[in-house]
Amino acid sequence: MRNEKRKNGQVKYPGATDRQKRAGLCVIRLRRNAIFSVFYARREPVSIMDIATYLAATLKALRQSRGLSLTQAAELTGVSKAMLGQIERNESSPTVATLWKIATGFNVPFSRFIAPPQASAPQQYDPDKQAMVITPLFPWDEALRFELFAITLAPGAESESTPHEAGVIEHVVVIEGELEMRIQERWQRLVAGEGLRFHGDQPHVYRNACARPTRFHSLIHYAKPE
Ligand code: MN
Repeated sequence: MRNEKRKNGQVKYPGATDRQKRAGLCVIRLRRNAIFSVFYARREPVSIMDIATYLAATLKALRQSRGLSLTQAAELTGVSKAMLGQIERNESSPTVATLWKIATGFNVPFSRFIAPPQASAPQQYDPDKQAMVITPLFPWDEALRFELFAITLAPGAESESTPHEAGVIEHVVVIEGELEMRIQERWQRLVAGEGLRFHGDQPHVYRNACARPTRFHSLIHYAKPE
């Protein structure tokens, strides 16, 4: 059953209803009010001090609370010891894909690493510098077991996601522009109003092949603990 689902579990929902469109507008309003964002560079890391500092401290505290050395943390996450050390010392901003690897390796929600609300002015989005911007709309909720993100992908940007924790189901809905997604070996193209639900515990790639930024929502649902 599980394998069957994996094989055929990529469900596409073409065309949004009026109700969904209204819901989309509602979410856009939420996004404008979003109080924290993570910015990552396509070519060079963009260091947003508050976020990087928070990430550095969070990662170090998490690793130490588990009693792990950097070497052990590297084995757990698949991210190099050198890179983990740089993040902890606030010398390097990881890509979104690397941060996902770390979250998955430690078995914690992605939003755990994102800084709490900032009082500072909202950041401007610059597609030349930021390939992928991820903003939590609804951070991790223990009871509901999901987190919901708004993601902007710059023109030409491609981001490869390593598999999330076992049992994760990811839901992607395009709000604006076009999104190409590769689930295992199969590429699919989604336009605004279309969505895709898939097993997030397998490799997947997000790509924006069009000439303007693509905005989409991603809901990550985590399985119940055994
Ligand atoms: Mn993913």
